[in-house]
Amino acid sequence: QFSLLSSPIDIGRVTVKNRIVSSGHDTGMSVDSAVSDQLVAYHRARAAGGVGLIVLQVSGIHETARYTTHMLMATDDSAIDGYRRIAEAVHPYGTKVFGQVFHPGREMMESLDGSRPVAYSASNAINDRFHQVPAAMPKDMIDEVITGYADGAERMRKGGLDGTEIVASHGYLPAQFLNARFNQRTDEYGGSYENRLRFLRDTVRAVRDRVGPDFVVGLRISGEEMSEDGLVIDEVVQACRDLDADGLLDYISVTAGTSATLGGAVHIVPPMSQQVGYTAPISAQIKKIVDVPVMVAGRVNQPQDAETVLANGQADLCAMTRALICDPEMPNKALDGELDSIRACIGCNQACIGHHHAGYPISCIQRPESGRELVYDLPNPVVRRKSVMVIGGGPAGLKAATVAAQRGHEVTLYEAERRVGGQVLLAEQLPGRAEFGGAATNIIAEAQRAGVNIVTRHRVDGDFVRASAPDAVIVATGSVPRQPEIEIMDEPTILEARDVVGGVELPHGRIVIADWRCDWIGLGVAQMIVQKGRKAVLCVDGYMAGEMLQQYVRDDMLAAAHAAGVEIVTNVRVMGVDEDTVYLQHRLSGQPVMVEDVAATVFSLGPLPENSLVRELDDVGCDVIAIGDAVAPRTVEEAILEGLKAAWNI
Ligand code: SF4
Repeated sequence: QFSLLSSPIDIGRVTVKNRIVSSGHDTGMSVDSAVSDQLVAYHRARAAGGVGLIVLQVSGIHETARYTTHMLMATDDSAIDGYRRIAEAVHPYGTKVFGQVFHPGREMMESLDGSRPVAYSASNAINDRFHQVPAAMPKDMIDEVITGYADGAERMRKGGLDGTEIVASHGYLPAQFLNARFNQRTDEYGGSYENRLRFLRDTVRAVRDRVGPDFVVGLRISGEEMSEDGLVIDEVVQACRDLDADGLLDYISVTAGTSATLGGAVHIVPPMSQQVGYTAPISAQIKKIVDVPVMVAGRVNQPQDAETVLANGQADLCAMTRALICDPEMPNKALDGELDSIRACIGCNQACIGHHHAGYPISCIQRPESGRELVYDLPNPVVRRKSVMVIGGGPAGLKAATVAAQRGHEVTLYEAERRVGGQVLLAEQLPGRAEFGGAATNIIAEAQRAGVNIVTRHRVDGDFVRASAPDAVIVATGSVPRQPEIEIMDEPTILEARDVVGGVELPHGRIVIADWRCDWIGLGVAQMIVQKGRKAVLCVDGYMAGEMLQQYVRDDMLAAAHAAGVEIVTNVRVMGVDEDTVYLQHRLSGQPVMVEDVAATVFSLGPLPENSLVRELDDVGCDVIAIGDAVAPRTVEEAILEGLKAAWNI
């Protein structure tokens, strides 16, 4: 079925066994800028799952390249041992592994000593996203940095990696030199196209000279930076053609976006609203004009999509990084024809890049075992098979039931509604969030495969539990919407976010959404209201709508809401509502704010635990474990992790 995806390919003098790639991505798993046991375990799991090529996360090649506190550094020989440990972990599975040599230029975020570092770039062109004014890199520093790329690549070779990738993507340093809008130098590294390409050209040559012909040297570049003043495809095609003609590169890895602006950064890890494989037409243009293999990244989530990209001749390899975070076994399952058992990534960004931005190790909302390979290593078989009753079929209950069954317990899950899936069923109905439903599809299928007996339309009470006499009970009964505690005068129309998602008839006119959660619900409901031809005023109890979301998802949803004409009022709390006015208070100044001519007010105040059953089970005589929203409001990610933890020790 996957004749192209499963076929080997030569990259330079290295043969990669299939076309599936885990591309370079920050993991947050380095310790003291070095490879950790967890990072080794993370990559070993992907190699065991059948991936053909792993490209490690960036390694800084100069002290001025240290853009986060939790990145790898390749600036001295102590890095070699870490590369060796990863190489030794993945090579037994036939997986090849490359490193990334990296300098962010002006895209600096943090420093080790707690002060904001000086960012260096081609010249002083400002960075809008991190509000940096970089220093122009002096000539002697350019020489040092280029030598740093070569030093880093050599350390990767000494550590037993199979290759290295020069990172010129996402607006990082080589792209800053290449871009005429940012490079205002007047020396041999600025001005003409030839001069602006010189930094990258010199870097490629320095790396190749140092590592020799047997070690793979590749280039990662954004085919389109998708941002005002960013590199555009014609410029990138020209650079790729010229670098390819030099004959020193073994492959080109094409991605999109730039770290330089909010709009461009969305494409670094594109959320679910972006079309599957949307960058493939860009890589196709580069593939047309170079002789070396081309790799593409950008929402290629499923093996079927990857096979299509290859069949269309748009790329030679597909980076499927999030698909592999979500299901490290994806390559083996795909190539063995077990497509139904693949846990597909839904592009939510919450636990992968979301964790990275929050400063802790990456994981997956659907698979909390990812990034925790040293702690959760299935099958963890049970010592004694027990009967386990799980009450509630939301994400927490489904995960707990699945893991308990996978470990060998006899598990029955009871759900009061006609469908299992809980809050995921709500999320999938919002504009641009349909793919979220995949999380429910995946986990339901996993539960069924694990042998969980799922019983729907069955509300469990204490008597039923006592009569069933299970060995253990997991209560995952979810939540109820929190009600507004405000002054209500006359007879205003008041709705709850779930009503709108459920399709309740809306009055015509202006509708206020009182959003305390600052997550996807308020933004999604506001867009839904606009789609129904009403005006939406989103009043958020925070600094911005979507404040709690991963930033690329947030910015993507904010852009969509803005384009749809949603009016957003920030930092306000609802104090009262009457027939046509919503009375708010500014959270910082305390000043009153009013929204008039209001036809209805929709509250999105978050849930309260529904845990009455826990109290009923005081005397049930077996272990009772409450998880998920039944304990306190949980995100889908938190709920699934709690399900895993609860089932791990039964
Ligand atoms: Fe995919 Fe979401 Fe998991 Fe990230 S957290 S790998 S986007 S499903």
